[in-house]
Amino acid sequence: MTIHAPIQSATLARLKEAAGPGGWIEGPDTEPYCVSWRDNWAGKTPLVLRPDTTERLAALVKICAETGTPIVPQGGNTGLTGGGQPHATGDEVVMSTTRLKRVRALDPLNDTITVEAGVTLLEVQNLAAEADRYFPLSLAAEGTCQIGGNLATNAGGVQVLRYGSARALCLGLEVVTADGEVWDGLRGLRKDNAGYDMKQIFIGSEGTLGIITAATLRLFPRPVDRGVALVAVDTPTAAVELLTRLRAALGELLSAFELMNANTFRFAQETMGHADPLPGAGWRVLIQADGPRAEPPLSERLEEALGALLEEGLITDAVIAASEAQAAQLWRIREDQAEVQQKTGAGVKHDVSVPVSSIDAFVAEADAAMEAAYPGVRHCTFGHAGDGNLHYNPIRPVDWTDAAWKGETEAINRIVHDIVMAHNGSITAEHGVGRLRRAELTRARAPVELAMMRALKAAMDPAGILNPGKVLPD
Ligand SMILES: Cc1cc2nc3c(=O)[nH]c(=O)nc-3n(C[C@H](O)[C@H](O)[C@H](O)COP(=O)(O)OP(=O)(O)OC[C@H]3O[C@@H](n4cnc5c(N)ncnc54)[C@H](O)[C@@H]3O)c2cc1C
Repeated sequence: MTIHAPIQSATLARLKEAAGPGGWIEGPDTEPYCVSWRDNWAGKTPLVLRPDTTERLAALVKICAETGTPIVPQGGNTGLTGGGQPHATGDEVVMSTTRLKRVRALDPLNDTITVEAGVTLLEVQNLAAEADRYFPLSLAAEGTCQIGGNLATNAGGVQVLRYGSARALCLGLEVVTADGEVWDGLRGLRKDNAGYDMKQIFIGSEGTLGIITAATLRLFPRPVDRGVALVAVDTPTAAVELLTRLRAALGELLSAFELMNANTFRFAQETMGHADPLPGAGWRVLIQADGPRAEPPLSERLEEALGALLEEGLITDAVIAASEAQAAQLWRIREDQAEVQQKTGAGVKHDVSVPVSSIDAFVAEADAAMEAAYPGVRHCTFGHAGDGNLHYNPIRPVDWTDAAWKGETEAINRIVHDIVMAHNGSITAEHGVGRLRRAELTRARAPVELAMMRALKAAMDPAGILNPGKVLPD
């Protein structure tokens, strides 16, 4: 990575002046901006900048560009890859979007909302609901993560199957470039072929190409009916077949399809007391359909479709939620998985994707390779099977210590990621590269693809001041 000189005190003084009152933090109060929610990413910074307008943020970036001061863009600081925290060298400023909170426009007829980057995901969902609309991006960190961060990481979540990831939900962006210019691309257009689609370059770029300051997002009709079921299947292949059959039966209404192995339920019972609704089952799929109110209600349509598949033998058992409380309880077992794993023992986490048709082969090969290398490993595998995205998180054998298991991280990554790549998959489907997967990118992407990424970075941030040491390998 580029080595930067310590930031001069004159530069810090200029930045404070330009940030204005309440626009900057220094000293011990910078700590929450320097540490991660999990996995111990920690660094330091002499200055956290908190501009309250795009213009002010642009003026700050201009000073950084003139003085060669590196910037770490930051939203809600919930990212899981060490992308949003400064390095330990203390020679970067943090640019927080927390005070960019304005709602610029809500256009119910165009089904769009335009918000500044610091509006949290939950706030966007609530604003949409107040206008009798729906914003479908949903993830466990939604009360804290911000729209700018969601777009910078192209966040996914449980409803990608139906609505797509953050990329698909964004129609326009406003971005401050590395030299402090403001690009106003806040167009609420669904069709636009005038040249390269610049917003898609910034989405998922993890703060390395520009700083997102506002976005125009797609809204949808608000679903008022939902059906939730938990289904037992013998193999991931049966789950994939089930997905195809339910799509044929329910079409667009199918919004979530979460595959979970038997251990996820066993551990949820052992560590958090969650009752297992399908004791003895192998793989389970948590299914949700939602849409407008119609007859028969969605729970009945789901029951009918699943009943036929039970008779056919594709699924071996099923529970249909009879109330919202039961639906919430089924979802809780899925949503609590991070905590369940934490309580079960150290795990090495993976956020991989393979073609949906390869899920079964990937799981079988990865499980076999892990058992050969680490007898007694406890498989804990779940994820958004409809998107081919699995959290493949092997947990230490019971007689290992957490520290010893963590010490195997690199070797375990190699085993899992080699199998992912053999299936033409991706080493990160949701969380991004940050610092966590940076070195591995060299093996996961072809030299020609890395060269294109480097050319893009050099064109858009020639001085290398935007989030240095993140995403691209040295
Ligand atoms: C409990 C939990 C559950 C999660 N579940 C999911 C999930 O289901 N699906 C999923 O995809 N992810 C998930 N995540 C990770 C997810 O990427 C983040 O939660 C979220 O999208 C990041 O938003 P943030 O505002 O916190 O960004 P931050 O953590 O602040 O930043 C993330 C990255 O984006 C950059 N960045 C932030 N803001 C901007 C900006 N305005 N302009 C340019 N760059 C910027 C940062 O430099 C950093 O590289 C989860 C995280 C947690 C803690």
